[in-house]
Amino acid sequence: MRKPLVAGNWKMNLLVADAVKLVKELKPLVQGISGVDIVVCPTFVTLYAVSEVLKGSNIELGGQNCYLKESGAFTAEISPQMLKDVGCTWTIVGHSERRQFFGEDDALLNEKLKFALASGLKVMFCIGETLDERQGGKMNDVLTRQVTKGLAGLSEADFDEVSVAYEPVWAIGTGVTASPDQAQEAHAFVRGLLKTQFGAAVADKVRIQYGGSVKADNAAELMAKPDVDGALVGGAALKADGFAAILKGAL
Ligand code: PEP
Repeated sequence: MRKPLVAGNWKMNLLVADAVKLVKELKPLVQGISGVDIVVCPTFVTLYAVSEVLKGSNIELGGQNCYLKESGAFTAEISPQMLKDVGCTWTIVGHSERRQFFGEDDALLNEKLKFALASGLKVMFCIGETLDERQGGKMNDVLTRQVTKGLAGLSEADFDEVSVAYEPVWAIGTGVTASPDQAQEAHAFVRGLLKTQFGAAVADKVRIQYGGSVKADNAAELMAKPDVDGALVGGAALKADGFAAILKGAL
């Protein structure tokens, strides 16, 4: 049985005071919940303040991205070591906005993933097709490419620290959620790819989160599907009560 993983990706939102307020509200709402792993991923500049509030809680902290070097002349980048230094145990790698707006490709993301893992972070690795790709019948090809290239070189043990987030780009921030059946179909396909590439043990244990307009009123039915092991939540993670309701839907 895979323990659900529900993470909030705050994207480029919330100033320090708002970020601190949000986690102060969230903490008591999720206190005592142990049946789901809970992660919040604030902006880099609010991580430290948020981590101070989260100390001793059941909410883990994650970065939204990180670079593939520990330190040096890489202006504006943030290393896994820096994320860990401010209390992160997780990072997102390969969010579609990084792929789409910042040109991050499969090869780069594979390097980032491997470096983050080697540095001791757990990784939510995002994949997903655009609307054009889905409508053009390319969904399976795109997912195959993203999984094959993006996860290349990982060991069976690495998958204790990696979750795959299936986030159809057409559902992110659009209010259009994949139906539970659409999500299940894609997740089962991805799990099949993982079985082919890494074997049954990996396919059985890896968590596959769904992301794309998850809200309190659709979370439970999405996560009730056998291959949907949690959620990666954007907009609805910016309100403590809504996010708490989503993760209770995972229980
Ligand atoms: C995301 O940011 O990964 C996401 C899924 O956003 P939203 O929930 O707002 O669609």
